[in-house]
Amino acid sequence: MQVLKFGGSSVGTTDAISKVIAIVKERVQKTPTIVVVSAMSGVTDQFILLGQTAAQGNEAYQTMIQSLAQKHENAVLALLLSTQQASALSMVKELIQEIQSFCATIFNERTLTLRMQDCLMSYGEILSSKIIAAAFEAEGLDQVWLDSRKLIKTNSAYTSAVVDRALTNQTIQAYFANSANQHALYIAPGFIASNAEGHTTTLGRGGSDYTGAIYAAAVQADVLEIWTDVSGIMTADPRMVHNAKEIPRISYQEAMELSHFGAKIIYPPTILPVMHAHIPLWIKNTFEPEHKGTLIENESSIDNNTIRGISSIKDICLLSLEGAGMVAIPGFAKRLFDALTKKQISILLITQSSSEHSISVGVSVQDTHLAKIAVDAEFEEEINAQLLEPLIIEKDLSIIAIVGAQMRNHPGISGKMFGVLGRNGINVSAIVQGSSEKNITAVIAAKDVRKAINVLHEAFFETTYKQVNVYMAGAGNVGGKLIDQINKQVPFLQSTLRLQINIVGIANSKNQLINLDGIDLNHWRDQLSAAPKGNINDYVTAILDNNLRNSIFVDVTAHATVADSYVQLLSKAVSVVACNKIACSSPYAHYAKLKSLARNYNAAFLFETNVGASLPIIGTLNDLIRSGDKVNKIEAVLSGTLNFVFNNYEGGKDGKSFAQVVRQAQDEGYTEPDPRLDLGGTDVMRKVMILAREAGHPLEMEDIMNESFLPASCFNGSVADFYNEMEKQEVHFKKLYAAAAESGCKLKFVAKFEIDVNGQGLAKVGLQHIQPSSDFYHLYGKDNLVLFYSDRYPELPMVIKGAGAGADVTASGVFADIIRAARA
Ligand code: ADP
Ligand code: ASP
Ligand code: MG
Repeated sequence: MQVLKFGGSSVGTTDAISKVIAIVKERVQKTPTIVVVSAMSGVTDQFILLGQTAAQGNEAYQTMIQSLAQKHENAVLALLLSTQQASALSMVKELIQEIQSFCATIFNERTLTLRMQDCLMSYGEILSSKIIAAAFEAEGLDQVWLDSRKLIKTNSAYTSAVVDRALTNQTIQAYFANSANQHALYIAPGFIASNAEGHTTTLGRGGSDYTGAIYAAAVQADVLEIWTDVSGIMTADPRMVHNAKEIPRISYQEAMELSHFGAKIIYPPTILPVMHAHIPLWIKNTFEPEHKGTLIENESSIDNNTIRGISSIKDICLLSLEGAGMVAIPGFAKRLFDALTKKQISILLITQSSSEHSISVGVSVQDTHLAKIAVDAEFEEEINAQLLEPLIIEKDLSIIAIVGAQMRNHPGISGKMFGVLGRNGINVSAIVQGSSEKNITAVIAAKDVRKAINVLHEAFFETTYKQVNVYMAGAGNVGGKLIDQINKQVPFLQSTLRLQINIVGIANSKNQLINLDGIDLNHWRDQLSAAPKGNINDYVTAILDNNLRNSIFVDVTAHATVADSYVQLLSKAVSVVACNKIACSSPYAHYAKLKSLARNYNAAFLFETNVGASLPIIGTLNDLIRSGDKVNKIEAVLSGTLNFVFNNYEGGKDGKSFAQVVRQAQDEGYTEPDPRLDLGGTDVMRKVMILAREAGHPLEMEDIMNESFLPASCFNGSVADFYNEMEKQEVHFKKLYAAAAESGCKLKFVAKFEIDVNGQGLAKVGLQHIQPSSDFYHLYGKDNLVLFYSDRYPELPMVIKGAGAGADVTASGVFADIIRAARA
């Protein structure tokens, strides 16, 4: 014999039922078959709601019955030929009438006991199984409907009754032993049973799987097949993890652990009966019947994965009893568990600290209130005597578990698990590893579950690539170039670095485009202008709420408000990559705080483009310092803008005034939005300060000497006023030029940082006359040049030179930082 169980979605529509019929018709030819069916999908929930509505005295229950009637009548009409419909329709009508009168009682008495609820829910499976039986009858199959209520016997724990296996086996075996009961096909409702008094009971939500296993074990079936809407057990719930993979074979034990820790694909009690009877259990997909599915049997297959799957249970809370006096209380744990058991509260996990000062248990959230009353009452004396604290409750939690029999032989699995969670800012409230070492379980905040499962899945199953989720702030010149560069490079990064960069957010000062599956980078501009409006706070809130794994925030703006968000982001383990210099050139304490947040939350905080666009200046400095070198002096031309200006200004000889050259620099995108930041030296001061800080010296802006060449009057008013004033001051600029030219020198704006004899770092910036013999003389276009003098490079400095401004090179520097953050 064989037992085939079809779940709610497999019988949820007439199309699906037709598929079921086709599958069964083929299979039944080989051996007698018991088909167990669930209620049509959603129907059990509707019956519960129906009962509650009637019990509240709400007339709306009538309409609910009508819609249930409609759904089942429609199934009959679609499945059977018109000549065959009459008896099935009257069967449905009769059952609906029973439901009507049952609900009328509930309505009149305003009560819905669990016993009544079981009776009401049972109609879901009765209706579906009878309709499907009628469809098989119409196909001319030799079949009979089995009343599972008569064959499966339970205690009276309504809504989650415990099966009396011995009695049930007897009853089922007696039925099949009777020669009058021999048929090719048996159709049985899942989920429902009855107690000694003959009242209907149910086996717990999802319990039809269990019904299948009970029949299979009782008749010693060759196989139990559970047909559902996915092609077998997967490494994680495919609704949570896009990349979940099918598991071809898994052991009973592993399947049991996965289902126990929330994998809805199988109702946990299902495994034991078939395991004891050594019956292979297949999980198959009704909508893809040719797919092999998952085989559950004694041995799991040996493959490269040390863990088999990841699952989660939502809506739990952690109850903790603490107190210094705990050690002295005899039978303490027993009393705690007894108090909970007496109230039929099931304990999902237990942890006890080795100091024995606290013990925590995880329970379902709906049991919290009852548990608190029961436990505080049990320990009332000890609480009054201050040996114990009243029960502490932590809510909004979930359990996640990694499961696999091979874990036992592999050290380092838990290290990997908690490392991955930690790096993603996921806080763990409790940890349990069973002594069987088949699972490691952690209690985490409910809001972190999806992220946790995804990062764990990535770490344990996705050797193919790591996915990083990028949120861009700023989509102007640099931002636009960056997005285009990333778009081109995606396949290369996948194949060479196994990195999948997903841009999931793009925001400018007006709109915010978010798509958690990854924005289509070929059409982002149109999508962004059509996206919802919002400010930076909305954007950061969305990023934190989305709580995606491996998130990187990329700031390609020059706004203080954007820089202000880093603290919040880093504190939630979101990495920050910035070409915005505001944060790193803010007061030292703030800069140091950001660095320490990044360290503490395992997030990257990278800003290579703060100095010299994509030139490897900060990274090189970091490498020198980290490898034990000491930087004694830095000399640099750090302003691509000023270089451009002084390389193009010829003292007015070519007819171009100084103001016109500055205008050209701005038009070509080499200046800050307010060019005075460049021209006045502030930008260079910021850069040399950042270098000094990275070299280990806590410099502030006030500590830097600025020998500005701009007349003070240029700093008044708007950017337009600035240009007017520069025109007026052309004589001043001509003089500067002429003085340098007279002695064969060029003008360069040079930054210098030096350690004095007391070990004090001093920095200054200013315009200098550069001789042809100097390293700085041959700097063209928007070049930057940095000279590092260190213990290892004492006389001849390490030299870094190249374009230090421009959207393309800045974007590429930011891109390199993104890749660094992604691989951290
Ligand atoms: P049925 O109605 O057929 O009993 P269920 O909804 O009870 O189906 O179970 C199937 C669902 O279980 C799948 O659609 C899937 O979302 C979920 N699920 C949870 N964990 C897993 C997993 N590890 N593998 C496959 N499916 C899973
Ligand atoms: N119909 C029941 C439920 O929804 C049993 C099942 O589908 O397995 O819980
Ligand atoms: Mg199910």
